[in-house]
Amino acid sequence: MTYSFELGPIRPPSEAYSLLIRATINCPWNRCKFCHTYKGEKFQLRPVEEIKQDIRTAKIIQDEIKKLSWKSGYGGKVKEIAGMVVNNPPNEAFRNVALWLYADSESVFLQDANSLIMRTNELNEVIRFLRETFPNIKRITSYARSKTAAKKKPDELTELHQAGLSRLHIGLESGYDPLLKYMDKGITAAEHITGGRRVVESGISLCEYVVLGLGGKEMWREHATQTAKVLNEIDPDFIRVRTLAINNKMPLHNEVENGNFIQATDEKILEEERLLIEHLECHSNYVSDHITNLLQEIEGKLPQDKEKMLATIDRFQALPPEERTNFRIGRRVGIYSQLDDLYDSDKRQVVEQITHRLSPGSNQIDEQKIYRLMGRFI
Ligand code: SF4
Repeated sequence: MTYSFELGPIRPPSEAYSLLIRATINCPWNRCKFCHTYKGEKFQLRPVEEIKQDIRTAKIIQDEIKKLSWKSGYGGKVKEIAGMVVNNPPNEAFRNVALWLYADSESVFLQDANSLIMRTNELNEVIRFLRETFPNIKRITSYARSKTAAKKKPDELTELHQAGLSRLHIGLESGYDPLLKYMDKGITAAEHITGGRRVVESGISLCEYVVLGLGGKEMWREHATQTAKVLNEIDPDFIRVRTLAINNKMPLHNEVENGNFIQATDEKILEEERLLIEHLECHSNYVSDHITNLLQEIEGKLPQDKEKMLATIDRFQALPPEERTNFRIGRRVGIYSQLDDLYDSDKRQVVEQITHRLSPGSNQIDEQKIYRLMGRFI
């Protein structure tokens, strides 16, 4: 018999090696214009017993992999055998458990978009059951919406923290009200602050996500400064940035086609990121761990690393125009990961060939081609 359990479509990059348990299915809001993940899918709460059954199945899969280790002469050591299962799993649930065992098997991520919407006593029960079933777990995290966090009583969030909920990942996206409204995020900056503060005060670690470029050509300044203002009020443990990339499954795609939304260029988005960082006065870890970001090396602990982060932007902006174009293409085709890659002759040769194909006889690149390349990353 092949065991399996429910898996959702996404998790944060930092949860790549977490056991994934689907506490709810899809997104209860599902209206944000810049998001395609759950479009056309209906939100569902799951009965607690069904979630517990998935947790039991994950345990059975873990035990099966351990048995396989004994049978294969690895004496119960799971790392080696888990690596083999990852490469050739009977199904995605096995792959997920094997990947988790291959890493440290200490983290669990509750899917999908907003597990906090569950009744507090039910979410508590799921978290406690996870800890009983896997006593080695050190971290349980999930996505949530600020609006839902703002609606929970402070005591409920404290209870969840005490039960073992370690971190919430919240999509702030922007702190600028007209932009939040235009994108149909269903929340105001003030609600973001209430929800975020409530999480921080409960002791649950908080990670807020910001979308660089979300203001497009028109609202980039306000997006940067108002987002910084909201983040300063919340003071989350982590600020994670990712850059707007658009595909045709998003409502925003139609806005671009109709000319209602004009995308900002990479260079303008870096100006926006500079403005955002300059205005940040919080004590968060600034993380840029997403492939859509032009300069993933802009990372650090605020406030002490602020100058270092801004210096990375200075370094890019001081490059001659053809070098900046070369770097942008190298990033958007996934060859460069940092500015120093410009001086890696093998990588550079490949990027120059691609540049020539994309833009024969010119050092200029059509922005639409860059946007299309970025669309492949999401
Ligand atoms: S709340 Fe999150 S998952 Fe839901 S539509 Fe908005 S961005 Fe997408």
